[in-house]
Amino acid sequence: MKIYNTLSKKKEVFQPINKNFTGLYTCGPTVYNYAHIGNLRTYIFEDILKRVLLYNDYNVKHVMNITDVGHLTSDEDEGEDKMDLAAKREEKTPEQIADFYINAFREDLSHLNILGPEIWCKATDHISDMVKLIQRIEKNGYSYIGKNGNVYFDTGKFKNYGKFAGLDLENLQSGVRIEIDEEKKHPRDFVLWFSTKGSKFKGHILKWNSPWGEGWPGWHIECSAMSMKYLGESFDIHCGGIDHIPIHHTNEIAQSEAATGRKWVNYWLHGEFLIMKQGKMAKSAGNFVTLKTLIKQNYGPLDFRYMCLNTHYRKKLNFDWEGLKSSQNALSTLKENIRILEQSDNGGTNPKKTVDYKENFLEAVNDDLNMPKALEVVWKLVREEKNIANRDKLKILEKFDKVLGLDLRKTETAGEISPEITDLINKREEYRKQKNWAKADEMRDKLLEKGIVLQDTAHGVIWKKK
Ligand code: AMP
Ligand code: ZN
Repeated sequence: MKIYNTLSKKKEVFQPINKNFTGLYTCGPTVYNYAHIGNLRTYIFEDILKRVLLYNDYNVKHVMNITDVGHLTSDEDEGEDKMDLAAKREEKTPEQIADFYINAFREDLSHLNILGPEIWCKATDHISDMVKLIQRIEKNGYSYIGKNGNVYFDTGKFKNYGKFAGLDLENLQSGVRIEIDEEKKHPRDFVLWFSTKGSKFKGHILKWNSPWGEGWPGWHIECSAMSMKYLGESFDIHCGGIDHIPIHHTNEIAQSEAATGRKWVNYWLHGEFLIMKQGKMAKSAGNFVTLKTLIKQNYGPLDFRYMCLNTHYRKKLNFDWEGLKSSQNALSTLKENIRILEQSDNGGTNPKKTVDYKENFLEAVNDDLNMPKALEVVWKLVREEKNIANRDKLKILEKFDKVLGLDLRKTETAGEISPEITDLINKREEYRKQKNWAKADEMRDKLLEKGIVLQDTAHGVIWKKK
């Protein structure tokens, strides 16, 4: 299996560290609001990665964090804590905000057939792990305390800081706005522990005691502490959206490796952004679309999943309603074709052909998750006229769906039909053969009353539930 590694900027063959499990860490949501469909695109890409690993028989141990403290409105330690802002906005406690949006997030994942991690971990449940990690960083000489009491990571001490993202540290790129905080030695230094002593942050709601006084953790440290706790000090794969490369993941690498003195993660995968005509999805730009928005417009969550699969995860996905409509049509046509396969019989199977399809599918998904290509294989298989019996096509599709997660076998024909309905369908066929159209129509109407719709296709008559 080959995956594109942001570390080497190349496709590499995946080699896990351990024989018994593959460690996968995906940066999870900051639970101060609903996830938007851009966020959800990233979680779908990560789900595909996990499903492809499982398809290749890796025993995946997947950890996802939930950020419920420490993420400020700017990823660069500026502004207010997003959880605090939401608590004020909704007149609730940060815990209530977190609980509400965690539930909403888990519902979204389930609607989208995202498998979800083996381990969910909340930042606020892991404060002591973060404190211990900061102490290790401090002991190794990579931190300092500002006049405001905050503990900063000293990026100047970490050799290769920013190499991962190709940052030009001498001349901070123009266009990237970094405020020079007078407490910091270097603008890129970041907060490991916020102190309540710092006048800027006095109103912060959540706080804990620590060796550096009362305060709360910076945003980046949670991912290092929790991933190491559950996956070990070095593990296989870490993912997120591309926006995390220059700041969040760059800082995660620096602090983790400064603490342990060893390479932290072997493979980094990043998903490109979903964008809209108006540009980046942001609430302030008025283009904040959630899964609920799509459902309200009569789209199914899996129509959106199909749309995401149809664009490679390293390409930008231009979201518009026409595109979503096309995905909806494609998925519904695919399912209709599958219904036909379910209800019609044909000849035998050439085993060589089934092997070809399975190999082509595996080759596509193992080539850095080439899902558009994998979908082509699916369409070709469904349309294959000869060589594979329908029942065998269905078995192969069921296997492919372990990666696709499109519920291909959950068509409107799912489940048994009663003998009474089968009898009516057969009778209608008989009447049609006798050209007794009135009686045939009578049977059709009776079926309709019982919630069964008939459809005449080139492959014969098929039925579906209304
Ligand atoms: P957040 O909840 O802001 O921490 O973001 C959750 C995930 O969504 C992160 O992995 C981000 O990189 C990713 N993300 C944010 N915006 C987009 C977008 N427009 N398209 C794709 N992924 C995004
Ligand atoms: Zn993270």
